[in-house]
Amino acid sequence: MKKGGGRVKRARKTVFLTLLLALLLAAGQGKGDGEAAVTAEGPAQVELDCPLVALTFDDGPRRSTTEELLDGLAQRGAHATFFLVGEMIPGNEDLIMRMEAEGHQIGTHSYDHVYLTGLNARDFARQVDRTETMLTQILGREGFLLRPPYGRIDSAVEKRTDSPLILWSIDPEDWDDKNTDRIVEHITANARDGDVILLHDIYPTSVAAALRVVDALHQKGFLFVTIEELAHQRHVELTPGQTYRSFYP
Ligand SMILES: [Zn+2]
Repeated sequence: MKKGGGRVKRARKTVFLTLLLALLLAAGQGKGDGEAAVTAEGPAQVELDCPLVALTFDDGPRRSTTEELLDGLAQRGAHATFFLVGEMIPGNEDLIMRMEAEGHQIGTHSYDHVYLTGLNARDFARQVDRTETMLTQILGREGFLLRPPYGRIDSAVEKRTDSPLILWSIDPEDWDDKNTDRIVEHITANARDGDVILLHDIYPTSVAAALRVVDALHQKGFLFVTIEELAHQRHVELTPGQTYRSFYP
């Protein structure tokens, strides 16, 4: 019974969000400000008037947790960005294809989670290029964001990478006490328009927190978008070797 009730509730929520998005899109089109033009990047996008945030997930994919997260995000119509660790990819190719198919964005987070600072060119390629190549083999395309492990960046990293470097503006340190209530409270108390939120989809507690955060911030009118969508909405061109922490209006 409980399960059925939850499904109805979720379905209603999805309908509400779909309507909300349709209204926002209609309002944006009414402006006639030319923002709906088709760009080289893809289909037309209108300006959204509501607060936007980007959920980002590092260190996965891990089937036991990432799959549940993808289910929950799909039920809620929320998009996220995943920074994947190369050594976690084999065996999870279907999850990565699913991420892309469901509108999430994919980036890299090194091959085995090392500092990228202080590496020589060959070791940098072993960490970053190798992981990008794995993703290219799965997705049939190139061009991935990079989040260096521990957020550590130096001028050599900036010079060697051919990706925009994405850090964050909200970090609940979800790996620390793995306390779902505290993580939810930290994010919902701090989130503002344009924030990039750091979480790790390898912990069940973080997956539970992320979905509760989506529900709570949806209630406040926020929409969850990918880094690329957020940058586009804020007229920021993501440039290789440059670091981005937030996209405030
Ligand atoms: Zn990490």
